[in-house]
Amino acid sequence: MDFSLTQEQRQHVETVARFVRTMILPGILEREKGHAFPEDIIAKAWELGIMNLSIPASLKGFEVDAVTSALIIKELAYGDSGIATSVMCNDLANVVIARHGTEAQQGAFLQRFVAAPLLASFCLTEPGAGSDNMAMTSFMKKTQDGRYLLNGAKCFITNASFASQFTVFCKIGSPGGAFMACVVVPRGEGDREEVEVSPTRGRRIRLAAGGSVWTGKEEEKLGQRLSNTASVTFEDVVISPDQIIGDRRRGFQYVMDVLDYARPMVAAIGVGLARRALDLTLEYTKQRRQFNSRICDLPVARDTLVKMWKKVETAELALMKAAWLTDQGDPDRGRYASLAKNAAAEAALFCAAEGLHLHGGYGFMGEYEISKLARDAHIIDIYEGVREVQDMIIGRELV
Ligand SMILES: Cc1cc2nc3c(=O)[nH]c(=O)nc-3n(C[C@H](O)[C@H](O)[C@H](O)COP(=O)(O)OP(=O)(O)OC[C@H]3O[C@@H](n4cnc5c(N)ncnc54)[C@H](O)[C@@H]3O)c2cc1C
Repeated sequence: MDFSLTQEQRQHVETVARFVRTMILPGILEREKGHAFPEDIIAKAWELGIMNLSIPASLKGFEVDAVTSALIIKELAYGDSGIATSVMCNDLANVVIARHGTEAQQGAFLQRFVAAPLLASFCLTEPGAGSDNMAMTSFMKKTQDGRYLLNGAKCFITNASFASQFTVFCKIGSPGGAFMACVVVPRGEGDREEVEVSPTRGRRIRLAAGGSVWTGKEEEKLGQRLSNTASVTFEDVVISPDQIIGDRRRGFQYVMDVLDYARPMVAAIGVGLARRALDLTLEYTKQRRQFNSRICDLPVARDTLVKMWKKVETAELALMKAAWLTDQGDPDRGRYASLAKNAAAEAALFCAAEGLHLHGGYGFMGEYEISKLARDAHIIDIYEGVREVQDMIIGRELV
């Protein structure tokens, strides 16, 4: 087995590392404190070709294999895991179109992301349907003219306030329908669209094709404050058959397919965050002295640093194996994606918490980046399937 990177992969890593050093890390704490959505950084990431990694080259997209995209996202998350989440969310929303959409749908719904730095949202989770996606009640019902009306409420949706397009999973026929469909809801051009703001319900976008999309107030989050998260409600949204991706009864299989693709990417976010926590802690404990010694030379503290390094390296190995199996189309790739996600979440949580501890009281202060990482790390263990759901997948496949 060859662990070396190709010349192209090395170039990608160097490009992202430079971008992180020059555009993301300087002033990151001030930016985060201000909760200012980093549109300038997203636009630059688009310009550099480090987002939309699932859009096929035939559409002039930046499609790369899973190993390369894991390397890119890991490096981006080293700068900020919230920005990496926003950037990666385009692929979470678009990969199902790239894989199961017709040529015409790919042209209509993917080309626009190649042409401009737009954002997409992946709308699966609902207030009553988190880990158990099939419990969702959003649904679309056929009308006499052969089109459908989509109604339902989604929550915790990344990029929602800035999205130009929503990939939505919903039941067919009724809220309790047995089948799930995947549909795409694009917003119109700015001048063809009416937007109004309600103090209680948020922002209403009246779609030119009919119906409204409401996006709620931006969520106040513990961490990843540079990613945007809000609820999305669909009200009598008119869906024509050419907005339905693939077989309209196979939405659940498409969700599984998307998550198999995306879990190594979340693992990459976790590994990037964990390595940043390790590097910051090494830097700090090498210069801070107590008991006439550098903190990093105190035996018990050294032991913690070793444990942190081991978690990062092990999680990275699990990530690379999962990404490699994804590229091979291996039947066991889902199980390894779950392993990588859990290992990365564990590394991120451990390194951020222990790193903060090794900073002593300073780690508890807002002006030390490690305190931000300790807040950010929790979500790695939650989104795209909580730890227990990953274990459920591994267990099911094992036996
Ligand atoms: C910042 C953020 C961004 C997000 N972005 C998106 C997005 O873009 N699109 C989207 O669709 N969703 C998104 N989500 C939703 C996210 O995927 C869900 O929050 C997650 O899947 C968990 O669902 P839940 O919050 O309803 O928790 P629940 O399903 O209610 O789970 C709560 C807890 O119960 C336990 N539990 C659950 N299931 C099991 C089980 N089978 N066995 C044992 N214990 C279990 C676990 O301890 C779990 O943490 C986002 C969430 C956040 C916080």
